[in-house]
Amino acid sequence: MKTIQDINFEGKKALIRVDFNVPLDDDFNITDATRIQAAKPTIIKILEDGGAVILMSHLGRPKGAEEKFSLQHIVGKVSEIIGVEVKFAANCVGEIAEKAASELQMGEVLLLENLRFHDEEKSGDVEFSKQLSKLGDVYVNDAFGTAHRAHASTTVVAQFFPQNKCFGNLLAQEILSLKKILEEGEKPVLAILGGAKVSSKITVIENILDKVDHLIIGGGMSFTFIKAQGGSIGDSICEDDKQELALDILKQAEAKGVQVHIPVDVIAADAFSNDANTQICDINSIPDGWQGLDAGPKSRELFNSVVLVSKTILWNGPLGVFELENFAGGTIALGNSIAEATKNGTFSLVGGGDSVAAVKQFGFADKVSYVSTGGGAMLESLEGKTLPGIEAILK
Ligand code: AMP
Repeated sequence: MKTIQDINFEGKKALIRVDFNVPLDDDFNITDATRIQAAKPTIIKILEDGGAVILMSHLGRPKGAEEKFSLQHIVGKVSEIIGVEVKFAANCVGEIAEKAASELQMGEVLLLENLRFHDEEKSGDVEFSKQLSKLGDVYVNDAFGTAHRAHASTTVVAQFFPQNKCFGNLLAQEILSLKKILEEGEKPVLAILGGAKVSSKITVIENILDKVDHLIIGGGMSFTFIKAQGGSIGDSICEDDKQELALDILKQAEAKGVQVHIPVDVIAADAFSNDANTQICDINSIPDGWQGLDAGPKSRELFNSVVLVSKTILWNGPLGVFELENFAGGTIALGNSIAEATKNGTFSLVGGGDSVAAVKQFGFADKVSYVSTGGGAMLESLEGKTLPGIEAILK
């Protein structure tokens, strides 16, 4: 696996695909700059080698060149974070981009305009990719968040750098962290899957059954399993058409020697609201008119004991409706357990959408071993797929 550490960038212009798809408020202030911070080590290494950096990214979902999606809005923040006055090219290809790239001196940083102002980016157009490739000497992919997309800047452009392409620090770390879970995990390996729906995680569950010793199924997902086993789940969220599948997953797990842990009790509410009345129910006997919105105390204890004996932990998806304060307790308790296990030497990876939001919100981000930056990319990796953006570098 070739990374930026294997290349001396002195005198070279690095064309880096970063993920600067950051959230902006109505005044175009960045409300969370994590993604820019995450790309910093790669940029700094190249500058310190004596190279120049050309950054390309998408922002939002523009229809053509919509000013509100211009990357111009983030130039100031990127400059502040990197500590270098960043230049800006008002187009990512063509004369404007080529002139800015050719005038760029070593030690300087150039940010190109939003790649998705051109439809050719998402369609993975070869000619557009070739135009991008003219801008740099080395292609670096440091965007895990888009590595599952076969777009021009994430995948297709790599073919124009047959000898001069590599992974940036961030993408390399993502790949190594996933490897630590899926291939080299110290046993016992535990996967915790929560969130709303079984249907969005079936392929993940099926793929990881071969890799784990313990599987915790929590959150809204668990009710489909409980109902399939004959429990009464009241008005809890459930995918009736996935009940057969849930039973099949349990059978597969048993055949593979995987211990599955499902909540034994829940905090049930009489409405989907933070102000609802609540009661603790056995998971198999939730009354009609009530819905399980968080893991109950016995479930938290059960999950805590599984977490503390595990040496490798993957966590994807919350254990309850953590967005509502009164139903965040199960997710917070789990975060605490994982933090404690991590302190004792367990490798823990949190990834994929809402669990990342939860660990950030509750202050666990620096208490776990690794927080992934990719939602969809993370899920596809856990499904066992080779991501096109990663394959294009390895080829
Ligand atoms: P996912 O994107 O599949 O990881 O699902 C995350 C969402 O699942 C969050 O917005 C949670 O509020 C939701 N969720 C977790 N547990 C429950 C539950 N018991 N009932 C309804 N929604 C839930």
